[in-house]
Amino acid sequence: MGMERIGSQTFRSLSEKVGQFRLTGKKVLIPQMNRIGGHLLAGTFRSFGVQAQVMETYRGLGLGKEFTSGKECFPCQVTTGDILLHMKEEKEKLGPAFDSRNYIYFMPEADGPCRFGMYNKYQRIVLDSFPELQDIKIGALTSKNAYSLDGMLDEKRTRSFRKAGYFSVVVADVLDRLLWKTRPYERERGAADAFIEKAMTKMADAFEAYGAVLDFDRILAELEGLIEEAKALMDPSIPPKPLIGMVGEIYLRTHVQSNQNVIRVIEKYGGEVVNASIAEWVNYTSYDRKREERIGFRRSLKQFRIRPTVEHLRKMLGYGVDLSYQQMRQNQVYRRAKAHLDLAEDHRLDRLESALLEDDLYSFDVGTEACLSISGILEYVRHGFNGVVNVYPFTCMPSTITSSIVKPIMNRMKIPYLDAPYDGSYQPGREACIRTFMYQAQQHSNKQKRKSQSAL
Ligand code: SF4
Repeated sequence: MGMERIGSQTFRSLSEKVGQFRLTGKKVLIPQMNRIGGHLLAGTFRSFGVQAQVMETYRGLGLGKEFTSGKECFPCQVTTGDILLHMKEEKEKLGPAFDSRNYIYFMPEADGPCRFGMYNKYQRIVLDSFPELQDIKIGALTSKNAYSLDGMLDEKRTRSFRKAGYFSVVVADVLDRLLWKTRPYERERGAADAFIEKAMTKMADAFEAYGAVLDFDRILAELEGLIEEAKALMDPSIPPKPLIGMVGEIYLRTHVQSNQNVIRVIEKYGGEVVNASIAEWVNYTSYDRKREERIGFRRSLKQFRIRPTVEHLRKMLGYGVDLSYQQMRQNQVYRRAKAHLDLAEDHRLDRLESALLEDDLYSFDVGTEACLSISGILEYVRHGFNGVVNVYPFTCMPSTITSSIVKPIMNRMKIPYLDAPYDGSYQPGREACIRTFMYQAQQHSNKQKRKSQSAL
C-alpha cells in the first residue's frame, strides 16, 4: 500500500494505544456504519470542539482483504480497509506534514462470546506493522460499561456529550426510517434518496449548532420540518406494500455497501422495510449491564457480602438511570416525529426479553445480538409484518443462532423468512432469492387483507 511494514508488535501496544483517550486537539476518524448516524455523530463532536470526520467506506476493501487472513468477520475486513485507505490517502495528501499522533480512530467494541471485541486489537496489530501509523490511537468505547466516554472529554462535558450523542443516534434512526417509509411510495424516482442526503447535512449542522448546549427542541423542530417535506414526496394513491421486518448483525444490516443494498432490492420487488435500529443496541447494552448488576446484587445479598452488595446496587441504579433517560429521549423524538408521519417505533427491551421467556426460546443470559434478533422477529410477527429478513456476515455466530432458532418457527407459522449472509462476493442467485421471498410476502399480505375483509 505504499508504506513499509515491519514485523514485530508488542502486547503493550494493545493496552497503551487502544482505549479511551483525550479527544481534544485530535482528528477523530469515524467509520461509516450507517451513513446518517456517522455524520450526525460527527456534527455532535464538532459541537463539543472536537474535530471529527466520517471516513469514506468500502473503497478500501481490497486493502482490508490484503491485511486480514480471511478468517475474520466481514465487518472487520471492511473497517480495516477503510482505516488503511484513509491513512494512506491522508499521508499522500499531507506529505512530510503527516503525523499519525494527530489522529484517533474510533472503533467501539462489544464483549461477549464473539469476535467484535477483537476487531480493534487486530487493527492495532495491523496499524503497528506500519512505522508511520504506529502512533494513531484507537478510541475504543466498550459495551462492558455501556459505552461510557470517561476520560475522552472534560469530565463536565462528558455527560452532556453522552446525552447529545445518544440523541444523534435516535434522530439518525428516525431519518433512516423516514427514507424507508417514503422511498417505496415516492412520486418521482430518486426523490427520497436525494432528499435524505440534504436532510442529513441539515441535521448534522443542527447537531453542530445545538448539540453542546443540549437544545434538543431546536433540533426536533428542524426534524419535524424535514418530515413534512418528505411527506410531500409520497404518492398517497400507491396502496400499502407488504411490510418486511429486518434484523441481524448491526454492521451488516446497516452498512448498505456490505449488504449490497438489500433494502433497496426488497423495495424493487415491492416491499416496504423496517430495519432494527442502532438505538436498540445502545439501549440493550444499558439494559444488559443493569440486568447483570441486579443478578450480582441478589447473589451478594444472599451471601451477606456487604461491600459487593452496595457496589452492585450503586451500578444497577446508575445503569437504570441511563436507560430511563435514553428511553425518555427516544420516546420524545418518536412522539414528535409520529405527529407528522406514522413511523415504526423500536420494540421495548423488557418486552423483547419476555417474548423470549414466554416460549423459552433463548435467554438474555447468553447475550449477543441473537437476543434482539430472535425476539425482534417475534415482535414483527406479532405486529402483522408480512415477512422477515435476517442480514449478517457469512459465518456470524449470533446470526447463525438466530437462524437456527427462528427458521422452524417461521415455517410453522407460515411467515416468509429469508437468511441473507454477505461476505463481499456477488452470488448470482441472491436477487432471485429476494424476489421469491417477496412473492411469498405479497401472498401473505393478500391473505391478511382477505381475512380482515371477511371479518368485517
Ligand atoms: S456479531 Fe458476528 S460478525 Fe460481529 S463479531 Fe460477532 S461473529 Fe463476527
